[in-house]
Amino acid sequence: MRGRIAAVCAAAGRDEASVTLTAVSKTQPAEALEAALAAGQRVFGENRVQEGQAHWAGRRERTPGLELRLIGPLQTNKAADALALFDVIETLDRVRLADALAAAAAKSGRTPRVLVQVNTGAEPQKAGVLPGEADALVARARDRGLIVEGLMCIPPAEEAAGPHFALLRRIARRNGLEALSMGMSGDYETAIRFGATHVRIGTALFGERNRPDRPSSG
Ligand SMILES: *Cc1c(COP(=O)(O)O)cnc(C)c1O
Repeated sequence: MRGRIAAVCAAAGRDEASVTLTAVSKTQPAEALEAALAAGQRVFGENRVQEGQAHWAGRRERTPGLELRLIGPLQTNKAADALALFDVIETLDRVRLADALAAAAAKSGRTPRVLVQVNTGAEPQKAGVLPGEADALVARARDRGLIVEGLMCIPPAEEAAGPHFALLRRIARRNGLEALSMGMSGDYETAIRFGATHVRIGTALFGERNRPDRPSSG
C-alpha cells in the first residue's frame, strides 16, 4: 500500500512523506492488527470507541509510536472515553461535541487534537458540519482550547470525489489548517492529487471486512 501511495505522490509531484497512511482496522481480527504492526504500520483508524478499546487498550504499551485516530461518529457521553484512547479525533462535527471534549479535557488534563468533519455533499444521513458552518465550528473549537489540526470528509458515494476534496481543501486554507483527511480505498489516488495529508484505507490494505460496515453515516 505504501508503494502505491508513493507512486501516486510521485505522479502528482508530491513528497510521499507528506501523506500519512491511516490503516482502518475496524472489524479486523487480532491477527490482522498484529500483521500490520509487524509490517511497521503505526497509525490506525477506528470508527467506534468500544471496538477501539478492545483492539488497542492492551497493545498500546507495547507499541511505541502508535497513533490512534477516531474516524467514526462520537456521542457526547463518550467524549471522555474517546479522549482517553485516541490521539486524534477526526469527527468533530457539532458545537455540543466541541464543548463536551473541552469539558473532558479540563478533567483529564489531556488536550484534544481534532479534525472537523465536513459533510461536503450536505447529505442528510451523513455526519459532518455543513460547509457553510465549518468556519464557525473551527472557531468555536479553537476558542474552547481544542487543537484543530485540519478537516476530514467522506464524499457522497455516487458522485465524483474530486470536487468534494477541492471544497475541503478550500475550507482548510481559509482557516489556516494543514491536515486533510480524505480518500479511502476507492478514491485515495484522487484525494492525494487534491492534497490529502491522511488517507484512511481499510479494504485495500486488509481485504474485505466480514461485518458490513459503512463509513460514518449517523
Ligand atoms: C471504514 C472507513 C474507511 C475505510 O474504508 P475502505 O473503503 O475500506 O478503505 C475510511 N474512513 C471511514 C470514516 C470509515 O468509516
